[in-house]
Amino acid sequence: MSVQLYNTLTRRKEEFSPLEGNTVRMYSCGPTVYSYAHIGNFRAYVFMDTLRRVLKYNGYELKHVMNITDVGHLESDADEGEDKMEKAAKKENKNPYEIANYYTEIFFRDMERLNIEKPEIIAKATDHIAEMLEFVKKLIENGYAYETSKGIYFDISKLDKYPVLSNRKIDEQIAGARVDVDKEKRSPYDFALWIKAPENHIMKWESPWGLSYPGWHIECSAMGRKYLGDEFDIHTGGIDHIPTHHENEIAQSKGLTGKIPAKLWMHVEFLQVDGGKMSKSLGNTYTLDELQKHGIEPLAYKLFCFTAHYRTKLNFTFETALATQKALNRLREGFIKHQEGIETISEEKTKEYEDKFLEIINDDLNIPSAMGLVWEIIRKPEKSKQYAELLLKFDDVLGLDLINSKKYLEDTKKIELPDEIKELIEQRTQARKNKNWDLSDKIRDILKEKGYVVKDTKEGMEVEKI
Ligand code: AMP
Ligand code: ZN
Repeated sequence: MSVQLYNTLTRRKEEFSPLEGNTVRMYSCGPTVYSYAHIGNFRAYVFMDTLRRVLKYNGYELKHVMNITDVGHLESDADEGEDKMEKAAKKENKNPYEIANYYTEIFFRDMERLNIEKPEIIAKATDHIAEMLEFVKKLIENGYAYETSKGIYFDISKLDKYPVLSNRKIDEQIAGARVDVDKEKRSPYDFALWIKAPENHIMKWESPWGLSYPGWHIECSAMGRKYLGDEFDIHTGGIDHIPTHHENEIAQSKGLTGKIPAKLWMHVEFLQVDGGKMSKSLGNTYTLDELQKHGIEPLAYKLFCFTAHYRTKLNFTFETALATQKALNRLREGFIKHQEGIETISEEKTKEYEDKFLEIINDDLNIPSAMGLVWEIIRKPEKSKQYAELLLKFDDVLGLDLINSKKYLEDTKKIELPDEIKELIEQRTQARKNKNWDLSDKIRDILKEKGYVVKDTKEGMEVEKI
């Protein structure tokens, strides 16, 4: 069965096959670790994870690199503003390395909470300064780069074609663009490879052009090449990377090797919040911790991502995310019912489902449709262990940690009750011991008004938040 994947470069779905043997060589643009990653960022990593899992499900091995940008990403993708790391360091009164370590650790903790597999190679930009420097020197030698008072710039006029990834028409854009302030640049679309550091800049390295630091795009080109070679299979990122970051990565690699570094370029659409853009100024760049405070688990957010195809916009609201949390618990309950089921299902039937699932996921990762199939199985009136096994197999792709369903459901019951509620429960327990049923009922009503339902079971009283 072949895997069809959409290629931004050719603007169509293509049949996938690795360039060499059975191993997929893949590069994913990772986080800039200057603050907490938000749920929009995690949509990109959930997509990356699903892609990994689909490839593995099809029997491929993976050599997957993800970078950690801990230097050189300026406030705008197009070389303007301050370095994000340095800016955060000044704001938090810390050293940029401390900032990077702190947010990197939290990023990986969140990735684990989303049950996202860690790529085989994690490459930190500051560990690869030598490779980047080498890359830039060779670009100068090849005639693709020039020096200005600000740094080393890539000369896009030397390329046969620019841009190649995005549809933008550069001449029109240049004509319509705001007047570029940097008169030293040969074209407004020339971009920084290496930036000369102002005196008070902390992260800087010796170079033939004095103390300086790398641009953001060069880091991905240099690290991708180091671990995956001049040509590899897949490059992933968010759609915001298409017009600048990835376009410039391609330009750099062409300047060095004459080749576009990856065969397939895959991009995930943006997550929106309340129908609009996520932005710090709107205060809607939520983290996983913030979702959790609203009663939405990281895995419920992952399931929420599965409600839309990765190439379509997805709109986040707390209302829909809370509904997804409930759906996740129903999914877990349904899975347990199958685990405990006694019916026997024919191999033909399970095979039919397996084939359908494979066909769906191999059609450019159609996860919303795959979830439709999962729900169909969950709802089957005949409860069977074979269905539970099938769901576990599908979970190799979904990564919802279904195997631990019981534990998650038990955890949701263990809610931390406010002192006032604990006190009322205690009073009700006493009332029931004293067979004062009127008082017991009265307290139950008070609890209900405060948002808690009590159920009297053989084991005692169970309390749930409404
Ligand atoms: P950054 O840390 O800013 O370099 O971004 C990390 C990843 O998150 C990149 O792949 C971005 O394309 C992606 N990204 C940023 N915002 C969103 C969003 N709202 N929805 C989906 N992906 C996003
Ligand atoms: Zn990148």
